[in-house]
Amino acid sequence: MAQSKSVKDYIRTIVDFPHEGIMFRDVTTLFADPRGFRMAIDQMLHPYAGVQIDKVVGLEARGFILGGAIAHQLSVGFVPIRKKGKLPGTVISQDYHLEYGEAVVEVHDDAIEAGEKILLIDDLLATGGTAEAGIGLIERLGGEIVGCAFIIDLPDLGGRKRIEALGMDVHVLCD
Ligand code: 5GP
Repeated sequence: MAQSKSVKDYIRTIVDFPHEGIMFRDVTTLFADPRGFRMAIDQMLHPYAGVQIDKVVGLEARGFILGGAIAHQLSVGFVPIRKKGKLPGTVISQDYHLEYGEAVVEVHDDAIEAGEKILLIDDLLATGGTAEAGIGLIERLGGEIVGCAFIIDLPDLGGRKRIEALGMDVHVLCD
């Protein structure tokens, strides 16, 4: 009997993207498949059944695709965390380190109210730098993060441990 496909089976690896030596985990093949996409959304939400969530926050850019679907499923609002200079209103900013250089992410300063329960979403956890910067922004606005959910963790890069060390509940679908 044929085994049913798991979320991991829908993810494609592109060698040497965006640089030589990088194995890029491409989730567009997962998003493009109706069963794969629904499975990913359902599994990302699974641990949070019965948990109060007031808003979903997604990290640019694939976190918008997942986070939008998850917010719709929960009937709550969605808040984007974007790279510097993309949001039109008044923002707060957070710097973080990349492998080469620095980056900045931003959120509208009125997007989250103090005490709101937040679910943070992105596609992939590598070093955890992007997620940590997002957590910093949410906490500066007074949001209470109830969980951080990702499709993929790259365990060799230590992101999961880094985010758990901040006291966060981390949920990933595959390594
Ligand atoms: P980190 O900040 O944890 O080192 O990197 C995670 C961020 O980079 C996420 O926003 C993620 O979308 C992106 N990213 C890094 N490597 C990959 C990859 O191989 N595949 C995908 N889909 N995203 C990646």
